[in-house]
Amino acid sequence: MTTNFNLLRSRLESEQKRLSEQLEQLEASNRSTEERREGSPFGKREEEANETQELEKQLALEKRVKDQLAKVEHALNKFEEGTYGLCEGCGQPIDPARLEALPQARRCMSCKTQQEKDAKGKFSSG
Ligand SMILES: [Zn+2]
Repeated sequence: MTTNFNLLRSRLESEQKRLSEQLEQLEASNRSTEERREGSPFGKREEEANETQELEKQLALEKRVKDQLAKVEHALNKFEEGTYGLCEGCGQPIDPARLEALPQARRCMSCKTQQEKDAKGKFSSG
């Protein structure tokens, strides 16, 4: 079975485009929420609390989109470097089926599982 890397690359490119457009919109709307807040320093408290909550939600979403975009751009970078499709943990080729499902995957399944185990250990031990 051959993996069509060109196809994966074009999928990543359209994902990159979609995410940067989404990010632009989020940033614009976050700015306007912030400006509204600054424009009314003596607004009703309840309203302000709602807006703060709303802004926090938007910022969290913005962060998620940024993270995703960074991953997609990282994968596109690996195309440039000629290392796309190789696991960053063990250097072995990543399972093509995994790349089909997640073109921006950085690690093979076993390295990812290992990494998640490590992370869990870190959290539980504090
Ligand atoms: Zn690996």
